[in-house]
Amino acid sequence: MRAIVAERAGDPEVLELRELPEPAPGPGELLVRTAATGVNFIETYQRSGAYRVGFPFTPGAEASGRVIAVGAGVAGFAVGDLITTAEARATYAEQFVVGADRAVRVPEGIAADTAAALPLQGLTAHYLSVSAAQPQPGDTVLVHAGAGGVGLLLTQLLVRRGVRVLTTASTPEKRALSRGAGADEVIDYGGFAERVRELTGGEGVAVVYDGVGKQTFDDSLRSLRVRGELVLFGAASGPVPPFDLQRLNAGGSLSVTRPSMGHFLRTPEEREARYRDLFDAIADGSLDVRIGARFPLAEAADAHTALKSRATTGKVILEP
Ligand code: NDP
Repeated sequence: MRAIVAERAGDPEVLELRELPEPAPGPGELLVRTAATGVNFIETYQRSGAYRVGFPFTPGAEASGRVIAVGAGVAGFAVGDLITTAEARATYAEQFVVGADRAVRVPEGIAADTAAALPLQGLTAHYLSVSAAQPQPGDTVLVHAGAGGVGLLLTQLLVRRGVRVLTTASTPEKRALSRGAGADEVIDYGGFAERVRELTGGEGVAVVYDGVGKQTFDDSLRSLRVRGELVLFGAASGPVPPFDLQRLNAGGSLSVTRPSMGHFLRTPEEREARYRDLFDAIADGSLDVRIGARFPLAEAADAHTALKSRATTGKVILEP
């Protein structure tokens, strides 16, 4: 089968198309023929060496596809099922293996490409909106990169719960998309803390969701109301340097958390409940999963370049 392989850490060009042996499912695993693969920021951190991985490396945690073989001891899945997952390995490939406990069957009516686009950013948006922080109906929050993959989904899930959402976005097209997802106001990055104060009557927001990191962290802290929470969930602009905890006191008994999706999928029940909410929201029309760019598998390097250069909106997928 064809798969993307990086022999070493480096720029996107290290991602090369290769012929690899077909994988085989072990006990408790499914072998899946890939319909579409989700591209995520974490793979850019892994490819560049910012996160340590073993080489040769085939990236990818998220994908949808049809089950083509079932390992020993698997219950609840059969050959032919359309499944999706955010927790596989090496999904930048025509086939991948996933633990059956990390896969879900895709409900009728959801297309295979949407199924690949949803899980990682959708589960993230879900746990950010109800678990990593718990903004209440009527609260105002700030979501950075409101037209990004997580940003569009998170905005919709928050608005659905009655939360007022302010976002940042860098271009007119992105601002329009974010507004379409339900953002009350979409603001520029420059001077956003001041603008947030204006838009909240001087009070500040209950929660800032910050996946941008280095470039926004300081002003995100400055945007919070007394006892507000900064949810730092990514580093699209680079990692946040160490900071003085006394700033949390000075800002008004603030909190900072640095969550990760895996810690919010701790049990089969938790995983299932989050997927169920997401599928229900798609079915009732309150969650739109936007695929902003599609690349052939062979062009995975271009997908990474686009994501890193802020050229994308919504989800980026690879198609075999
Ligand atoms: P996005 O689609 O949001 O892409 C990143 C966006 O960040 C860009 O489009 C851009 O939007 C904005 N951005 C601002 N500054 C920069 C910069 N210097 N370089 C690049 N982008 C910048 O990506 P995802 O939705 O996939 O991921 C968003 C964040 O969430 C990432 O940091 C990712 O690592 C994190 N994440 C964390 C998870 C977790 O569990 N902790 C799980 C999944 C993702 P604009 O042009 O509008 O500024």
